[in-house]
Amino acid sequence: MEREVKFATKCVHTGEKPDPVFGAHTTPIYQTSTFIFENARQGAARFAGEESGYVYARIPPNTPTHAVLAEKFAALEGGEAGQTFASGMAAITAISLTALKKGDHLISTDVVYGCTYSLFSQVLPGLGIEVSFVDTSKIENVKRAFKPETKMVFLESPANPTLTICDIAEIARIAREKGALCVVDNTFATPYFQRPLELGADLSLSSCTKYIGGHADLLGGIAAGNKDFMNRMSSVVGYTGGIMGPHEAWLCIRGLKTLHIRMERHAENAMKVAEFLESRPEVEWVRYPGLPSHPQHELALKQMSGFSGMLAFEVKGGIKAGRRLMDKVKLCSLAVSLGATDTLIQHPASMTHACVPCSVRKRVGITDGLVRLSVGIEDSGDIIADLKQALEAI
Ligand SMILES: *Cc1c(COP(=O)(O)O)cnc(C)c1O
Repeated sequence: MEREVKFATKCVHTGEKPDPVFGAHTTPIYQTSTFIFENARQGAARFAGEESGYVYARIPPNTPTHAVLAEKFAALEGGEAGQTFASGMAAITAISLTALKKGDHLISTDVVYGCTYSLFSQVLPGLGIEVSFVDTSKIENVKRAFKPETKMVFLESPANPTLTICDIAEIARIAREKGALCVVDNTFATPYFQRPLELGADLSLSSCTKYIGGHADLLGGIAAGNKDFMNRMSSVVGYTGGIMGPHEAWLCIRGLKTLHIRMERHAENAMKVAEFLESRPEVEWVRYPGLPSHPQHELALKQMSGFSGMLAFEVKGGIKAGRRLMDKVKLCSLAVSLGATDTLIQHPASMTHACVPCSVRKRVGITDGLVRLSVGIEDSGDIIADLKQALEAI
C-alpha cells in the first residue's frame, strides 16, 4: 500500500500537477471562460456527463486551476471531493439549496457568522424552509430541536464571535441517526486544527477569504465531503453560478501551501495574547479555546489539535472602553474579516454582527462590549506591546 503523506506534505504537494504543455512548475491560472472540444461528439458527451472534462468555467469542475484547489482542500479535510465558490456565503447558500427544499427544517448553531444568520433567518424561511437556532454547545438542546422534517444540522465551532464550541462527533452521530445532514463551518479552526469529516460530519466548509487564502487579498469559499453530495451540489453550483475566479483559486492554492506554518504561528501568538489579556486588570473576561477558563476547554482539547488565532474579550467599561481601545491600537488594524497575516481588531455588535437583532445578540452572548481579535503572525511581543499601550490609554 502507498504510504499516506502527512498534512504538511499535502499542503505543499496534493493536487499539483506539472503543466503538461510547457512544464511550468506551479499550477497555471486557466483564465478562460470556455473549453474547446476535439469534436462535436466529445462536446455532447461532456454535456451529457458521459465523459469527464471541462466545458464552461461556471460548471464544475470549473477549470483545472479550480480542480487542483478542490483536490488539495478535500485531501486536507479528509473528504472524497471538494468544490470551490465565489465566497464563503456562496458555499453556504449552495449547500443549503442542495440539502433543503420547501417544508424541510434546519437546525443551526445560534451563534453563527452574521450573514449566515441573515441567510437562515431571512432568506430560507421565504423559501418555505423552517429554521431553529439552537445553543448547540448543549446536546440536550440539539436533541430536543429535531423534527421529522429536519434535513440538515449546521454547526459553527468555534463560533464567530463568541468562540463557543460544540461536540461535533456527538451531534454528527445524532444527525445521522435522524437522517439529517451534518454540516460544519470550519472557518475558524481550518483543517489544520480540526477535521469535522473525521469526527463524523458530512460536510466541512471554509471561507477561503480567511485562513485558507490567508493574506486578506481575496474572496472565496470551499467545501469538502462525500462524492454523492458533491455531485448533487454541482448542479446547484452550475445553476446559481457563485463561482470563484481562476486567479482567486490560484491564490488559494498558494495560500494552502503555507497553511500549516501560518496556523502554528497564529495559534502560538493567540495563546500568548490571550494569557496577556487575562492577566490585565482592565480586562473583564477573555474567551480563547486554549485557555483553561474557556467553558468548553476540555471539549476543545478533545476535538481540536490546536486553538487557532481567534479570540474575544471585553474590557471593563463595556462598549465605550472597547471603542476607545479600538481607536488607540496602532499595530493592530481596525478591520472586519479574519485570518490575515496582520492582527485585526473589530467590534461585532456594531460591525460583523450588527445584522443580528439586539435581543438575539444578548441571548447568545455577543455582548455590546465584546471585542474580537484575529491574532496575526507578527512578533507576539509587538502585538502585546500594542495592546498594552492601548489598554493603558483607555
Ligand atoms: C467570513 C465568514 C463566512 C463568510 O465568508 P465570505 O467569504 O466572507 O463570504 C462564513 N463563516 C464564517 C465563520 C466566517 O468567518
